Amino acid sequence: MNEQLNDEGRTVRIIGAGPTGALLAILLQRRRYTVELYESRPDPRAGAAESGRSINLALADRGIHALQMAGVFPDIERLLLPMRGRLIHHLDGGTSLQPYGQRPNELIYSISRQELNKALLDVAARQPGVTVHFEHRFEGAEFDEGTALIRDLRRDRLLSIPMQPLLAADGAGSRVRRRMSLLHLIDADETDLEHGYKELSIPADAAGRHRMAHDALHIWPRGNYMLIALPNEDGSFTATLFLAKRGGMSFDSLTEAATIEEFLARSFPDACALMPNRVAEFQSHPVGFLGTVSASPWAHEGMAALIGDSAHAIVPFHGQGMNCCFEDCMEFDACMSRHTSWEGVFAEFGAIRKPDTDAIAAMALDNYLEMRERVADPKFQLQQSLSLELERRFPQRFIPRYSMVMFHHEIPYRTALERGAIQAELLAELTADPVTTLAQVDFERAEREIRSRLAPLP
Ligand SMILES: Cc1cc2nc3c(=O)[nH]c(=O)nc-3n(C[C@H](O)[C@H](O)[C@H](O)COP(=O)(O)OP(=O)(O)OC[C@H]3O[C@@H](n4cnc5c(N)ncnc54)[C@H](O)[C@@H]3O)c2cc1C
Repeated sequence: MNEQLNDEGRTVRIIGAGPTGALLAILLQRRRYTVELYESRPDPRAGAAESGRSINLALADRGIHALQMAGVFPDIERLLLPMRGRLIHHLDGGTSLQPYGQRPNELIYSISRQELNKALLDVAARQPGVTVHFEHRFEGAEFDEGTALIRDLRRDRLLSIPMQPLLAADGAGSRVRRRMSLLHLIDADETDLEHGYKELSIPADAAGRHRMAHDALHIWPRGNYMLIALPNEDGSFTATLFLAKRGGMSFDSLTEAATIEEFLARSFPDACALMPNRVAEFQSHPVGFLGTVSASPWAHEGMAALIGDSAHAIVPFHGQGMNCCFEDCMEFDACMSRHTSWEGVFAEFGAIRKPDTDAIAAMALDNYLEMRERVADPKFQLQQSLSLELERRFPQRFIPRYSMVMFHHEIPYRTALERGAIQAELLAELTADPVTTLAQVDFERAEREIRSRLAPLP
């Protein structure tokens, strides 16, 4: 191992105090850096909830593991609501539960974005040496001079701060990334999905209780669009409708109250009964954009580096964006132990992390089809059951891809993608017509194929 970065006491500047920036500040402070965190929004601990962002998120093993390693999980744990599986709402009103995993700890958790951010900021702000400057917006950077321009929005003053190093945790629409790209210091690409999202609410009942099973992620898969709902602590659910932005059946075309009502009532009859404000919310809530960000490299010399969504925002269909960002922070921290220069830290971080973030970006896109379409398909359901059965029989070699991503932080995303592709082929072969039930699967063949195609996991 190389000598460690020996510039303790130096100041590190972070743009963005979302989940990535806040966790990074905590980790840097533990390494005795002085941290200056610049956040364009007001302090969320003092005011109303931000609008236009998803209200709750799914936290899974990778995120939890990172929070545990960083010593902040005890501050977060009280906010978690466990979800055991997907509860599918069929068009005829019937429901079916697809468990996420098969072990008691194979759960994912719903957590309020706002409360999580507040808890992380509380931990960060109480560390000596961490200063959070709210209402301070990054506006530009002069890389020749090594300075960044920050506007103090309360006093309308422009501040010039040194970079060396500056960590850009300013999210999917990162201005730091756009500036670096504009100056040709990096190549960056933002691919918008043709679908957007809108949030609707399912309030608690009169006694403050959840009006559907609170320990599941609810999905109404409808082919080209879908509705999902995650539970909140106060007995409500936040529902998110994913739909094409333009075209025949789209957010653009659904503008009249009567058409919106007809669409919702036809597509999600049981959910409609629980959403008294559906049409008003549909008309007043913004359409959120979804997309994938890709950048290369993630850094310019030892001066500035992208981290979290600013480097690799992904579509939300695997519920992994923030989990991945927390994993980034831990990888970044590990790189700091191995290098004597920021340039070295940045270079290694990008080299080891990008193959994994590319892999989760691909799997997140793939999961959209799975959630809105395949979950309702009997063949897919058979393959899901078979996956769990094969994992029971051959746990060292076969773990469903979803489980590798959600419950196995020790398995890198890239490995989940590679093994997942082999497993998908195998599942298709083993469930090819005329097989329609688990009892008809040829398990001797399954064992032979698994042993020849899938090496044991370490
Ligand atoms: C609909 C939806 C659902 C999602 N669901 C999940 C889920 O279930 N599970 C999951 O793990 N992930 C989910 N994600 C992804 C998750 O929200 C992101 O991966 C995560 O928030 C990224 O954290 P971040 O800190 O890198 O960026 P952000 O959360 O975007 O934070 C960036 C911060 O930088 C600040 N900022 C921006 N520009 C500037 C500037 N110029 N100057 C100063 N500050 C600035 C912003 O105000 C913000 O506070 C979802 C995303 C969406 C859109």
